[in-house]
Amino acid sequence: MRLVKHLNDFQHIQRQGIGFFIILDNANPVKVHSVGCSWVKEENFIRKVLTNKEKHGSYYWVQYWSEHYPSFKETPCRKCMS
Ligand SMILES: [Zn+2]
Repeated sequence: MRLVKHLNDFQHIQRQGIGFFIILDNANPVKVHSVGCSWVKEENFIRKVLTNKEKHGSYYWVQYWSEHYPSFKETPCRKCMS
């Protein structure tokens, strides 16, 4: 598991299209998305990680994800993982 802290890292992961983002957010349940999900937006990453310096949440990347081994009690995205 890797904490994603830089925009070029985020963009690189999206271009490669491999693995999953686990998105932590103080105000919402933790979600896991496939990295290509259209609900995972660069503007949200910029706001949450760069502008707000992860005060309200963070982005992690994992290569593999199983509902049997959640890391943060995350739940699968309804759009990309149902
Ligand atoms: Zn998704």
